[in-house]
Amino acid sequence: MLNIRHHIGLGELTTFGCSALAEHAVVVTNFQDLQEAVAFAHDKGLAMRVLGSGSNVLLTGDVSGLVIINHMHQRAECVDRRDVHIRFGSGENWHDAVTWTVHKGWSGMENLALIPGTVGAAPMQNIGAYGVEQASIFEELEAFHFDSGEIRKYVAADCDFGYRTSVFKRELRDKVMITSVTYRLSLDPKLVTSYRDVQEELAAMSIIEPTTLDIYNAVVSVRTRKLPDPRIIGNAGSFFMNPVITSEQASQLLEKHPTIPNYPQADGTVKVAAGWLIEQCGWKGARHGSCGVHDRQALVLVNHGGAVGSEVLELAENIQRSVADTFGITLVREVNVW
Ligand code: FAD
Ligand code: NAP
Repeated sequence: MLNIRHHIGLGELTTFGCSALAEHAVVVTNFQDLQEAVAFAHDKGLAMRVLGSGSNVLLTGDVSGLVIINHMHQRAECVDRRDVHIRFGSGENWHDAVTWTVHKGWSGMENLALIPGTVGAAPMQNIGAYGVEQASIFEELEAFHFDSGEIRKYVAADCDFGYRTSVFKRELRDKVMITSVTYRLSLDPKLVTSYRDVQEELAAMSIIEPTTLDIYNAVVSVRTRKLPDPRIIGNAGSFFMNPVITSEQASQLLEKHPTIPNYPQADGTVKVAAGWLIEQCGWKGARHGSCGVHDRQALVLVNHGGAVGSEVLELAENIQRSVADTFGITLVREVNVW
């Protein structure tokens, strides 16, 4: 029997840690739970939202409707001559999944080590780090549609993966729950070492010809050193996305600000480091009531204790305004605001 609870605190279920209540909340561990939860919501006319590990959600007020907390676990693998196809239940912990595959000797997820969250949320914003996006290993997923009760299969072409986006973050937001994701990993590693931090870490480890495990260890080590641990200080990772601008805009910007870190993309656009822009505007380490900007990574907003969502949004808007005034660039939020 499904245990639907009422007026449940959600703050501790998110890494930012701002307090809010869910009108109704339920933990689902399998498909039958999900069907029953959705039937309950339909019966009462409630909107539904899925919560994974809450590492990319900022709570700004109580949440009406039903919050479906995803604990759907599963791992099933199928190995062919060169590839491994692994179907993960969407409630699997992402980093545990990465660690498991790396220790099996399978390659493809290693650059994405230590990203918090569930497997089911990974396609949502097409998670990425150190030059790799989940899209590069994605094979297919299954999503349960709340309105029709249908389970539909999505291959990569259906997902419209882009830079920290997908159809699940846009058109299908809050309309489906991703229930499983299948990744295709390789027995024949194609390693990505294009990011300076990874190269420097490998050099510090005296590794010249890295293995999949070496890259994984290097990423874990850099991330542990550089990024704020949500268990110690509340945060949701990068609060904003790195802006991607046209090459003409980039040339004009670089004429005025020649030191902006910028990365030309394959399609001719140019990605600009948002953290650098924020830092140049003097925000690194700044405080705003109980929240603030992290003192080592200006792209991360933090909860110093007791911050409420509205004051975090106020800080974010102040940052957006000053970056727009100084550089003429509009920063777009990456975090999902509830
Ligand atoms: P949640 O925060 O619970 O949910 C995020 C959104 O996805 C919500 O809108 C939710 O409704 C929706 N959602 C969740 N699960 C499902 C599902 N099964 N079906 C449909 N919708 C769903 N992100 C990166 O891309 N790269 C990084 O390197 C990275 N580093 C981070 C470092 C830190 C310290 C932190 C705190 C965050 C970081 N993130 C990073 C952001 C975050 O980890 C990812 O976005 C992650 O995929 C979120 O997973 P989650 O389970 O916590 O999702
Ligand atoms: P970093 O290495 O200091 O680099 C700053 C920014 O420059 C990054 O955002 C990155 O863009 C870009 N960059 C750096 N080297 C690049 C290269 N060789 N080619 C293209 N772009 C390059 O960044 P960091 O803050 O320490 O984070 C390291 C990695 O973890 C990044 O990939 C970042 O996206 C990821 N991360 C993401 C989150 C999140 O919440 N989304 C949180 C923490 C870390 P990209 O962001 O596009 O890679």
